[in-house]
Amino acid sequence: MKHLNAWLFTLVAPLTLAQAPQDFSAVQVVPHQIAEGLYYLEGSGGNIGVSVGEDGVFLIDDQYAPLTEKIIAAVKSITDEPIRFVFNTHHHGDHTGGNQNMGNAGVIIIAHENVRTNLSNAFNGGDLTKALTAEQSAGLPVITFADNIDLHLNGHDMHAQHLAPAHTDGDSIVVFKDANIIHTGDVFRTTSYPRADAAANGKFFGIVAAYETLLAISDDNTVFLPGHGVLSKRSDVQAQLTMFNTISSRVKTAKDAGQTLEQIQAAKPSAEFDAAWSAGNTNAGSDLVAVIFNELNAE
Ligand SMILES: [Zn+2]
Repeated sequence: MKHLNAWLFTLVAPLTLAQAPQDFSAVQVVPHQIAEGLYYLEGSGGNIGVSVGEDGVFLIDDQYAPLTEKIIAAVKSITDEPIRFVFNTHHHGDHTGGNQNMGNAGVIIIAHENVRTNLSNAFNGGDLTKALTAEQSAGLPVITFADNIDLHLNGHDMHAQHLAPAHTDGDSIVVFKDANIIHTGDVFRTTSYPRADAAANGKFFGIVAAYETLLAISDDNTVFLPGHGVLSKRSDVQAQLTMFNTISSRVKTAKDAGQTLEQIQAAKPSAEFDAAWSAGNTNAGSDLVAVIFNELNAE
C-alpha cells in the first residue's frame, strides 16, 4: 500500500486532469458488505466487487481513473492488505478506467482475451499497428483466458466464465461458488434496458442467452451483483428476462406480419416497461426495438 499511496501523489492528479472531462470530485466511493470478506464499492461507473483476506485484495473492475485514489481509500477502510489483482468484466471505460493506475502500481490485471484486444484498440485510437505508450500498456490485462479461469484466493473458489457476445464480446461473470454470489458485469443491470454494444459485437439475443445462463447456474439464495444497480435475486433476473421475451416476441410477431421498423416502433411494443427502464432516455424503448428488429433481420 505504501507504494500505491506514494505513487498516487505524483501521478493520479495530472492523469485526472488530462483524461477526464467529467468531474469526479464530488463522487464518493462507498463500501457495502455482501458476505464475510466480500464487498462491493459503489462510486461512479460499474459496481466494484471486492474480496479481502490474507491473500490480498481482489477487485472486480476499477471504475474511472480519477477515482483510483478514492477506491484505494475505500479498500483501506476495509483492510490493510494490498490490492493484488483486478479482474475486468469487460473493456468499457466505466469498468476499466482505473487499469493504468492499478497496472502502474503493480496490480495484476486479469480479463478475457477480447478485453485485452478491445482495450488495445481503445488505447491506440483504433489502430492496432500503432504502438501503445508505456502508460497505456500498463492498463492492459497481463493474464488473459479464452473461456474461463478459476481463482483461489482468500478462502474462496472463484470461477470467471466468458459468455457468448452479449453486452460486448468480452463479457465475463465471476461466480463466488461457496458464497453463492455472482458479479455479472454489465450483462445484467437493474438501472436500464439491456445495452448491446454493437461496436464490440454485443447482441441483445446474447444478453437473453446470458440471463438464461445466470438462471441455470443460480438458486433462490444467489446474490447477484449487477454491473450497474442494486444487489438482486434470481427472481429479479427472471423478471427482466420475461420482459425481454415479451418485447422481442411482439417485435418478431409484427415483423413476421410484414411491418417495418418504423411501424413497429410507432406501436410501442415496450410501452408498459418504458417508464421503469428508460433511465431518462425518451428513445430507450424505440432504440431497444430497433436493436431487436435489426438482429432478427440479420438472422
Ligand atoms: Zn459496459
